[in-house]
Amino acid sequence: MRIVTLPKDNLVPFLESTKAFGELHAPLRRGEESCALGKVDNAADIQVGCLRTILPPKKYFMPQEQTMFSFSPEGYEPVAEEAGKRYVLFGLHPCDIHGLKILDLVFSGKYTDPYYFERRKHVAIIGLDCIPDEYCFCDSMGTSFAEDGFDLFLNDIGDRYLVMVGTSLGDDMVNASARLFGEVDETAKEEFKRRSNTRREHFAVEVETWGLPEIFDMEYESPLWREAGERCLSCGACSMVCPTCYCYDVLDLLELNAEKGVRKRRWDSCLFKDYALVAGGHNFRKERSSRVKNRFFHKQRGFVAEYGRPACTGCGRCIVDCPAQINIVELITKLRSYSHV
Ligand code: SF4
Ligand code: SF4
Repeated sequence: MRIVTLPKDNLVPFLESTKAFGELHAPLRRGEESCALGKVDNAADIQVGCLRTILPPKKYFMPQEQTMFSFSPEGYEPVAEEAGKRYVLFGLHPCDIHGLKILDLVFSGKYTDPYYFERRKHVAIIGLDCIPDEYCFCDSMGTSFAEDGFDLFLNDIGDRYLVMVGTSLGDDMVNASARLFGEVDETAKEEFKRRSNTRREHFAVEVETWGLPEIFDMEYESPLWREAGERCLSCGACSMVCPTCYCYDVLDLLELNAEKGVRKRRWDSCLFKDYALVAGGHNFRKERSSRVKNRFFHKQRGFVAEYGRPACTGCGRCIVDCPAQINIVELITKLRSYSHV
């Protein structure tokens, strides 16, 4: 892997130069305390210190609502919204890069999702390291460091960034602004090691993940699910902000003549009351407790069985945003204590 350095004073001109590779999107201020990924007009506006964007980057690859195709009595026409539009996403932290790798697994599974990958192949990823806060548990989930899944990755080493070049596209971005970059020296390497250790020491939350699928199986009837269900508001916020939740609903919108129309898909949540409603009016997850249980089981049990890893990156968004203070870390810790393992 090629490694170079970028003086911090050169970050803004470099990011401006990346607009030649696609529309630049990065964390921008939203309100007093939040930031969101959005289109960058002036790279100086980017919130480099932003830890957790409101929505994860999945919104670029599976938008909240998307038209799949139009149909008429003559047949159907695929609709490729934003076909070929190129983006450069800057400021993705390791957990969100891992979140995209998890979505890649899902959408390239039994059936490849052409809508997802049409967008995915046109987006350049520039990662950025971070210092965890009291909600981050990515270190426990094995997602605190990104070895791949990016075109470039910037590590803060004081007055410079140590820049990992992950792909040939990343190499092109560096070469296009070569005068802004420098070579790696021993000082840069030592500072990188020192800061990596310091970062690790900042993790305040730890989750023991060994044996979790078995513990979930053993605690299937735990009273914990009823307690969580009594508090849950079925708002679905936890799914919307989760970088690895990918459920969507499909709906047909008909014109007045009831012959032509479009098929759309839009984000859905297994916490919604009607998520498991089927033809005939039966709802196989009518109780809130069963829906909460389903979400956690899928992430920590079902996904592991299918893909060999949990569908959670430890980003902490669902903890921060749940209005009922349902906390995945506390829940896992309690389940483990109930199981006495
Ligand atoms: S965010 Fe909290 S209250 Fe809302 S659906 Fe998720 S668990 Fe329930
Ligand atoms: S389950 Fe919560 S902590 Fe885990 S990836 Fe989703 S939002 Fe982040």
